[in-house]
Amino acid sequence: MNQEADIHTNLLALTENGMAAFVAPLGWPAYRASQILRWLYQKRVRTFADMTNLSQRERSHLTACCTIERTSDVQIFSSQDGTKKFVLTLADGHQVECVLIPDEDRLTLCLSTQVGCTLDCGFCLTGTLGLQRNLRAHEIIDQVLLAQDHVGKGERLTNLVFMGMGEPLANLDAVADAVARLTNQTWGLGFSPRRITISTAGLASRIKDVAPLKVNLAISLNATTDELRRQIMPAANRLHSLQALLAACRAYPLAERDRLTFEYVLLADVNDHADDATRLIKLLRGLRCKVNLIAFNPFPGSPYRRPSDGAIETFQDTLRKGHVDVYLRRSRGRDVLGACGQLGRIEGAKASVALTQIETRC
Ligand code: SF4
Repeated sequence: MNQEADIHTNLLALTENGMAAFVAPLGWPAYRASQILRWLYQKRVRTFADMTNLSQRERSHLTACCTIERTSDVQIFSSQDGTKKFVLTLADGHQVECVLIPDEDRLTLCLSTQVGCTLDCGFCLTGTLGLQRNLRAHEIIDQVLLAQDHVGKGERLTNLVFMGMGEPLANLDAVADAVARLTNQTWGLGFSPRRITISTAGLASRIKDVAPLKVNLAISLNATTDELRRQIMPAANRLHSLQALLAACRAYPLAERDRLTFEYVLLADVNDHADDATRLIKLLRGLRCKVNLIAFNPFPGSPYRRPSDGAIETFQDTLRKGHVDVYLRRSRGRDVLGACGQLGRIEGAKASVALTQIETRC
């Protein structure tokens, strides 16, 4: 084998086929590939010495030629409500965040897919960062491995939502690769696709590409006219009109008992009027869906305000009367800037400023 070419191969970056192709020329038995994958994903080892069902010679070879690229630079912020925000520093120094949200019998992890974001939604701090770069599949997976490392003994993540920093459909190849590893039952993390939700701010042309992944799809709507959507989600609306977005949703091949989720961030005096609720009812008519309302989480410099509890309740009531299945999402982790619209980079004085967007979004 060509040792030079294999130096510093990051095994966590390899797909299942990639791992098989890596093992074959070494003359190792083919099952070594799934053994290594199990160590990486199921046992979450960080060193080759821990791969105890490999021979000493094999472990030494991996140690000499390969890496397991997982971040060890992590800051953890714990909220009084049990939410934990993890700020991961990547190999190139960029930072991304993920948020662990315990809720009754659920333990949900909100994942980031980009450093910064392709889009520029006005209610989201991440949108102000611009796109720095896409995350690679193993950097998405690392967020899950890291969170699992930090949950209590016997606890297990139950749900994964791609709603952190970034627009998942703008990095769909890496997201799909990550989902494949997260759902693999043999050597991967064994999540049911039904426990995974991918959220988009409205990349209508790519929505159909989510269907083969068999995960849940959420759409961050937030406006009932193009005029308003242009104002609060300019880039998303420039790419696809509301009509095009809803057409893509209507064409989405939902499995029999599935439904779409529409996220709607309520912004005081912007999109929380009775007319907005009435238009929303009409727009969603005939779609198998539910609506999640999220009261805006303010961040410094944002032009938007959180509506009063009364206004939120009235909006919700109007939807209910219009036979829309509607839920109000509780904000979690606001004291550690881990709530919707509050993810981003922590940097000196900016530590007290919101970072990205967690659940408010896509
Ligand atoms: S809400 Fe989502 S898509 Fe919009 S800017 Fe924030 S992270 Fe990007």
